[in-house]
Amino acid sequence: MHVLLLALCFLLLRPSLFSLESAFNVVVLGCHGGPIDANLSGYLIAPKGSSTYIALDAGTLLEGIRIAYKKNSFHEISLNPQSSLWPEADILQNFVKAYLISHAHLDHIAGLVMNSPADSKKTIYGIKPTIRYLKEYIFNGAIWPNFASEGNKPRLDQYEYQRLQIEEQVAVFNTPFHVEPFLLNHPHDYPSTAFLLEASDHYVLYVGDTSPDALESSKRLAKVWKKIAPLIQQNKLHAIFLECSYPNEQPANTLFGHLDPHYMIEELSQLARYVDPLHPEVALKNIKVIVTHIKKSIFQEKSAEETIRKELEKLNTLHLSFIFPEQGEKLQL
Ligand SMILES: [Zn+2]
Ligand SMILES: [Zn+2]
Repeated sequence: MHVLLLALCFLLLRPSLFSLESAFNVVVLGCHGGPIDANLSGYLIAPKGSSTYIALDAGTLLEGIRIAYKKNSFHEISLNPQSSLWPEADILQNFVKAYLISHAHLDHIAGLVMNSPADSKKTIYGIKPTIRYLKEYIFNGAIWPNFASEGNKPRLDQYEYQRLQIEEQVAVFNTPFHVEPFLLNHPHDYPSTAFLLEASDHYVLYVGDTSPDALESSKRLAKVWKKIAPLIQQNKLHAIFLECSYPNEQPANTLFGHLDPHYMIEELSQLARYVDPLHPEVALKNIKVIVTHIKKSIFQEKSAEETIRKELEKLNTLHLSFIFPEQGEKLQL
């Protein structure tokens, strides 16, 4: 009896032992870092029960929505049967309310650019350099017509740029989300972003392409980990999207500002120590880690996904629950 009571008290005092009830739906539009052009980084996220999505990067967009619709990943959405639009265009125009762009590399914006003629008026959020690159080098009338409301004329006025201040939380217009951006190295001085998203006091962290701190002089990931550690202690953080572009065999000097399994685990171990310095090995037990941006192998006998999956499982002394996303699927986080 005493043992049972003790066990009960222990469980009540350690809420982190329970897994969190899901608070978000994510639709995977694309999940790789290239070179296949039809499956690049792009995720739609909405609070559970809502059909108000924001896009986290948009490397693949309309094609990802088309595949996800076929897989029935949008059953929250009731499309107007009178609509003359293809379902994927209808979803893009009416249910995707904003873009959060982690950085302006093509594998994160190609869908946004190519699909802009099929899109509706909305806001593109990014830190200042990301917006500057979009404005000066993409939507400039030379590479692509200017679909934005500022920059070179003529302007089509479809997208409004919103420049996010580093570590300043703002509401995402027309959605239930708040976002706080953190600066990342990708690598060295190329600016990439991690977005901390909040809706109804539930949180998700989306990390764009990033170097490990070990290969950088500025420790930008450590800053992100310190910020989210209290949210994990309070059981408010549901998931972390984190990139793992290459298998461990990739030499550190050719990671080009990316993580491999070794560095990914090293970073998550640092986070675990911030969350619970005494028991780091169980500190992240509730956290789902969505492994993003794996660069596909072009060699027949090699599968980067398989290698990375095995390497991460072997190094998983933190008991993390890894999710390897697939294009078109719906994740409950
Ligand atoms: Zn990328
Ligand atoms: Zn990149």
